[in-house]
Amino acid sequence: MRAEILYFGRWAGYEIGMRHCYLRYLFGRPKGFLQRWLENQLIIDTTSVDEAKLEKIRTLLTRSRTQVLISHPSVLSLLAQHCLRRGIPFRDFSMRAVISVGEPLLPETRASIEDAFGCPVFDRYSAWEFGVIASECERQQLHLNAGSLYIEFLPHEGHRPTAAGEPTRFVVTDLFNYEMPFIRYEIEDVVVLDRKPCPCGRKSPLLKGGLRPWVDQITSPNGAWLDPLGIEAML
Ligand SMILES: [Zn+2]
Repeated sequence: MRAEILYFGRWAGYEIGMRHCYLRYLFGRPKGFLQRWLENQLIIDTTSVDEAKLEKIRTLLTRSRTQVLISHPSVLSLLAQHCLRRGIPFRDFSMRAVISVGEPLLPETRASIEDAFGCPVFDRYSAWEFGVIASECERQQLHLNAGSLYIEFLPHEGHRPTAAGEPTRFVVTDLFNYEMPFIRYEIEDVVVLDRKPCPCGRKSPLLKGGLRPWVDQITSPNGAWLDPLGIEAML
């Protein structure tokens, strides 16, 4: 999974040693200082996000000269809107790429993040069980992770096999997980295959985005946004 993150990170312009930041909930045993320092990684807890927290995140990102930012589109969208509302110029950031994970990325969300940070956004589709399932190339096409996963597209039960371009369910076999075999495992997401070749020249199959499951959004009584994936992890 670490190799995949580095491999697909390079598609977004990330290189080992580059300053990068995760905006995510902190739960369980977080990485130690030494490991984060060696990886040049910043992790900012977004379990609960209000205006003060957004401003703190903005300051940390500019001060640390973060070049690659990784988070859920919900958090990225809140942060982008915060920066745009305050008229923060994207030149204040040193951002080269934003990687969106964990939720579907809407075109308007992508546009506001690109406006706020002045860099391209790369969508990534991943799952707890498998790591990266698909990741966008520089042409904004979602390529399947054909290097470490064997993915089969199956008809919906009781229905005719789906044609290309129609929503389809799929099962995944992880070729490198020797700890816990996942063989023809169904995540119960629905995707759409895109049979067109990608102009980037890579041969791995493409997915159309947009059909992945939505995550419920939760707001606390005082108006702070609570990370739904963090709550899920706690449960
Ligand atoms: Zn491509």
